[in-house]
Parts: sequence; structure tokens; C-alpha cells
Amino acid sequence: MNFHVLTLFPEMIEQGLGTSITGRAMQKGLVGLYAVNIRDYAANKHKKVDDYTYGGGAGMLMQAQPVYDACMAVQSGLDKPARVVYMTPQGTVFTQEKAKELAGEEDLIILCGHYEGIDERVLEEVVTDEISIGDYVLTGGELPAMVVIDTISRLIPGVLGNGVSADTDSFMNGLLEYPQYSRPEVWRDKPVPAILLSGDHAKVDRWRKEQSLKRTRERRPDLYEKYMQEHPDAEKYIK
Ligand code: SAM
Repeated sequence: MNFHVLTLFPEMIEQGLGTSITGRAMQKGLVGLYAVNIRDYAANKHKKVDDYTYGGGAGMLMQAQPVYDACMAVQSGLDKPARVVYMTPQGTVFTQEKAKELAGEEDLIILCGHYEGIDERVLEEVVTDEISIGDYVLTGGELPAMVVIDTISRLIPGVLGNGVSADTDSFMNGLLEYPQYSRPEVWRDKPVPAILLSGDHAKVDRWRKEQSLKRTRERRPDLYEKYMQEHPDAEKYIK
């Protein structure tokens, strides 16, 4: 899958995603990351990309022309038009469901705003999806874009490493994940739950399901209620 990020700060995107799991995914060719500098598309000789807002008010706004030209340049290099996601606090809040949906795309263009945001007219022209990472305001769309790219990337087969899958992670099946333990068996007088040492896989699976349900009921009653409506037989796992 290829991510084309339209930004005024390409080095943020490249450095932020170039290490660890996402960095290895790029080296292996499982994920392509292309950070496009919107400033390169400014038509004026000073490469200015922002200006004051009509109607007054403090702050600068990213202008329509460079954003439009940068987006069209990327689209013209693709076999078919890609979805264009604008990162904005005014968008639909990002979820694992949305990540799964977007992971099915071959190419995705992600537009990052900065300063006061972007001229509304170019958003109307090019954007297909508006995504927020939560009800708070950041200085720019670069961190939100990295959140979205990281989340989608780990759903791509092979990115997490051989045999590791995201299937049991929180939200993948509508529940939070069960608690996990590693060596040693006892740490600060706290033993690992005995069932995990039993070698009985059926019992371990059942225990994990029960823990997952209990944890979701306690921490995210909204998710729990939805899950139980869709899976009424899950009641049997909760004592
Ligand atoms: N004036 C805008 C508003 O009130 O809706 C906020 C602009 S914000 C300071 C600058 C840029 O940061 C936005 O254009 C957007 O790309 C990004 N941004 C800020 N908060 C975000 C969030 N919660 N989710 C996604 N993007 C966000």
C-alpha cells in the first residue's frame, strides 16, 4: 500500500515513520511512503503558501493553489484516482474500523493542514474523507497523519513480522484485549495466572475470552453493550 502525504513538513513524516516496525515495512517494500512538499507547488517566486483570512481574525491560512496542484500532481501519477483524506479536528473520529476500511486501498493521499487550516474551496474540490484523531486541536496534520498511517500499516500482512497478526488486538473484534504476561513466573510476589502455564489451549482461550469481556465491561461499557447485542451467546464466558 502506498501513502502519499501532502505536507509543509515532509521531514516530520519521513523521520516519524522511518524507524521501528513502519520503517522495516518500508524497507521490505510492504508499505510505500511518499512525503510531498506542498511548498514545491507554490506558483509565486517566494514559495509562499499561506495568507491572511478574509473577514479578519488572527492567523494564516494555507492557500488553495499549491494544495490543489500538489494533489493533482500525485493523482496524475496513479493508475486510478486515489481517495484523499484531509486530517482535521472537524472530521469523523478515527477508529480501528476506519483503519480496516482504508487498508483495502492501494494508494491513499493524506493532506495535512497547518496554521489555521486550509482554504475551504480546495477542500471541496479534492477531499473524499475527513478524519480527526480526537476532540482536541494540534498545530498541524502531520502527527494525525502518522497516527493513521501507523494504524493502517500494522494491518497489512507481513508488517508485524512472520506469524504475528493484529487479530487479537483491542478493537479488532469489538472488545479490549485480555491481560498478558511474560517471564518470570513470579515477579514481586505476583504469580502469572496458573491457567496460562497449564498448556491446555482450550482453557487458555476460554480464560482470555472471559478476561477480554470483563475488561471491556469495566473499562468501555459502550463497546461491551454493542458486542453483547451482536453476540448474545458470549454471556456464557462471563461467570
Ligand atoms: N482552525 C481549525 C479548526 O478550528 O478546525 C484548526 C486548525 S489546526 C490548528 C491546523 C491543522 O492541524 C489542521 O488543518 C489539521 O490538518 C490538523 N489537526 C489539528 N487537530 C487535529 C485533529 N484532532 N485531528 C486531525 N487533524 C488535526
